[in-house]
Amino acid sequence: MFEVCRRCLMPNTRPETPFEDKVCQACINFDARSQVDWKSRLNELAGICERYRRQDGSWDCVVPVSGGKDSHAIVFYMKEVMGMNPLLITVGDPFTKTKAGAKNYYNIGETFNCDQILFTVSPKALKCLVTAGFEKLLNPLLFVEQVLNTIPFKMALKFGIQLLMKGESPFIYGGSVIENKSANKRFHRKFNDFDMQFWIDQGADKEELNSIVPPKNFDELDTYYMSYFVPWSSLKNFEIAKRYGFVDLTHEWKREGCIEDFEQIDSIAYLAHLWLKYPKFGFQRTSDIVARRIREGALTVERGKELISKYDHKLDQCALEDFISFIGYSTNEFWSIVERFWNTEIFKKDGNFGWKMKVSRF
Ligand SMILES: [Zn+2]
Repeated sequence: MFEVCRRCLMPNTRPETPFEDKVCQACINFDARSQVDWKSRLNELAGICERYRRQDGSWDCVVPVSGGKDSHAIVFYMKEVMGMNPLLITVGDPFTKTKAGAKNYYNIGETFNCDQILFTVSPKALKCLVTAGFEKLLNPLLFVEQVLNTIPFKMALKFGIQLLMKGESPFIYGGSVIENKSANKRFHRKFNDFDMQFWIDQGADKEELNSIVPPKNFDELDTYYMSYFVPWSSLKNFEIAKRYGFVDLTHEWKREGCIEDFEQIDSIAYLAHLWLKYPKFGFQRTSDIVARRIREGALTVERGKELISKYDHKLDQCALEDFISFIGYSTNEFWSIVERFWNTEIFKKDGNFGWKMKVSRF
């Protein structure tokens, strides 16, 4: 049955988030943070950095970055606080960049004086695989996410770098405490889960799948989540990022279905990708943000309910336009595909063109 967490309003349809006594595991994990000695965690990070620091000036860690506020915060901690020399690696999504996204991408290398590599998949392969992910799974960026999960590891190993620092651990979203600090286990599992045959069945050639062939010597790399070492907060990361030149969408684009203008702002159609979980799970971006803000004490539950009711179902028209122009579909073709994925345990048909939730959300 569709239920929401009584603390943060996150629905129980969210994958990988168990509930206990009507409270989601993300809230339970957030509460556990109050017991953490953050000074000692930062010292632990300093110890790890000391182990991998290179004295000859070469790169001593890899940080996968998009250019977003969290990327800025991770590089801030690694370079400015820990004094490391990170190599930044970006795997871009294929959609049109926002002005802010383009500026932030260049800003991160410039403001922190870091070398940066941009990896892009062949445009032809990308169009085919994004379209397949959309049509078959309603998950257009599945392939890009697999590349994002693979390329930084492969590049680190290629350059003989043994430390890789990621941002948020799954623990923040209700994952197991075992995966709070090190990302090695999770990525081993992810690599094993990659289904090459699925992409080949969608028309991809083997040569187009090089980027998601998992690294062989993965054990030579130590991978951590920054959210284990510092009290991770998107609001705090935004403040850090702004101090280093990060810009948001305030002066560029007021996004429908969104209640902030500084998260996931790199490209236009990414918002359409995020919206596509709505038909399957009955929630999307507004619910994600509301849950985080409530946990951090930045929003009341009552206000959260208002925002979700008003915005969570909305798909931004600009994002939709950019998405369909990338895959070459008409609006009608887009909705015909989405039509197949509405979760009938949550939604019922409302007239010829709409779906609405069967039960009241709150
Ligand atoms: Zn919760």
